[in-house]
Amino acid sequence: MIKAVKGTRDILPPASAVWNHVESVAREIFRTYNYHEIRTPILEETALFARGVGAETDIVGKEMYTFEDRDGSSLTLRPEATASVMRAYIEHRLDQLPGVKKLYYIGPMFRRERQQKGRYRQFYQIGGEAIGSESPLLDAEVIDMSVEILKSCGLTGYQVLINSVGCSNCRPAFVELLKEKLAEVAPKMCVDCQRRAVTNPLRVLDCKVPEDQPIIETLPSILDHLDPVCAGHFATVRRVLDHRGISYEVRPRLVRGLDYYMRTTFEITHSGLGSQNTVLAGGRYDGLAESIGSKISAPGVGFSMGEDRLVMSVEGSLTETDSPLVIVTFTEGEATRNAAISAAAELRCAGIRSEVSEGKLKKVFEIANKLNARLAVICGENEVASGTLSLKDLVKQEQWTAASSELLDQVKKCLNK
Ligand code: ATP
Ligand code: MG
Repeated sequence: MIKAVKGTRDILPPASAVWNHVESVAREIFRTYNYHEIRTPILEETALFARGVGAETDIVGKEMYTFEDRDGSSLTLRPEATASVMRAYIEHRLDQLPGVKKLYYIGPMFRRERQQKGRYRQFYQIGGEAIGSESPLLDAEVIDMSVEILKSCGLTGYQVLINSVGCSNCRPAFVELLKEKLAEVAPKMCVDCQRRAVTNPLRVLDCKVPEDQPIIETLPSILDHLDPVCAGHFATVRRVLDHRGISYEVRPRLVRGLDYYMRTTFEITHSGLGSQNTVLAGGRYDGLAESIGSKISAPGVGFSMGEDRLVMSVEGSLTETDSPLVIVTFTEGEATRNAAISAAAELRCAGIRSEVSEGKLKKVFEIANKLNARLAVICGENEVASGTLSLKDLVKQEQWTAASSELLDQVKKCLNK
């Protein structure tokens, strides 16, 4: 028997309702912050991610689904969407439109990782990007907006972590200093850190290996090495968050190992998620446009939320959202069948969830009970001949007859009780 590919999964009802709920909450929050949806292709040229995510990263190094197309070109299933959004921004010259471009996306991403709880090979992200300005107000607004989405989905007990990683003016000197310190201590660290100490020293700060933590504590902090512009930028982000009453923790070790990440970085974690506890991550990427070959400068800031993890965190707390179900059934002949089909159509038109069910009445009622239906409408021969139908309240087990013309009123009355 063929099964779903490892690391992918089917999202079945009723869980799919939670996904829809989370997505519609996110869409509504995005709308109020004046973000509009962008849908980019799932397939992109491999070079976009190699440059836009960075060859040094785990994503590009070992997690991408890359294949050769029939014409020899190299394509990749998107592992994230920021690079695609930026490509679209430049390709369609969105910089020429007025104002900061505020875009959001919702959709699947693909990374060939080891499958575990909260980590899949096809997973979903909800993300927002504000492109076209360096203003720290946008950094704060993006954080504010992502917190609103989590809150509106009913999540509590999350933690906002922020940092600044400086810019191309102040970071190189810090990286040099870090390299010097690492030359002394790296041999005592994990193999990944030994490699990073040379190739990407910033990433050492982000190492999760417990044994390395005491050593990392002794390394210099980027926050002591920001130039005045970056320090001022970070101070404004913090002041706006304070003003909004958003609590956060400054984590000087929260870094991104890529050159185009500048200034603000942030993450939101949730304790209920176990070891994969990051619900979302974001930051400012002022050099991204240039790194994917653009001559147009496009500073931006954004976040990306792991929808699988968000759903996992709120799933238990959501109450049943399904509306009441009406089962419409009929006895024999085409006239009763037509009456049932018309009755269901009338109810659906009025927004009432209805299903036409055929078969012996006893069986129909059995299934109706299992489906938790609230009401049954029965179109029998005699009733149809006299312009009536029967209704049965499946909770109270009461049955009565009404004129067909009163169907909607009667059903509404019963459902509202
Ligand atoms: P992690 O440290 O968990 O690997 P990451 O740094 O690779 O995260 P990002 O690229 O920043 O993750 O993606 C943003 C968010 O997307 C993460 O915080 C997480 O919630 C979610 N995410 C990333 N990879 C996966 C995955 N394989 N399965 C499910 N969710 C994921
Ligand atoms: Mg990862």
